[in-house]
Amino acid sequence: MKFPKKILDELQKYLSAELEKIKKNLSSLKLQDPFSDPDRLIDNAASDTEAKEESSHERMEALEKELKIHFEEVKQALERVNRGTYGKCFSCKKMIDTDRLGAKPTALYCVECERKKEK
Ligand SMILES: [Zn+2]
Repeated sequence: MKFPKKILDELQKYLSAELEKIKKNLSSLKLQDPFSDPDRLIDNAASDTEAKEESSHERMEALEKELKIHFEEVKQALERVNRGTYGKCFSCKKMIDTDRLGAKPTALYCVECERKKEK
């Protein structure tokens, strides 16, 4: 089974837009991170502020990591659309359920393999 070109075209559009969105989020995240503020070094902030910056930096890092993982997922899905292998399970090569793909267009594994992976 293969996906009709119309659906693949839409997917491609959707995934490319998604990639752009993540890229934008990532760069705005960097701007928000107090640790990447060049003024910070000359700023004699109280240790109290320092601690706050520390925890927000950690939060930013966690968020950045998540975004990067998502970015890779979307990029892979897009590559698979381009190669014509979209929708095939990465592990067992069977077609992934379309309901699953509808809910998670970047899914690489079918429900069964995903379940096996979690074990
Ligand atoms: Zn599978």
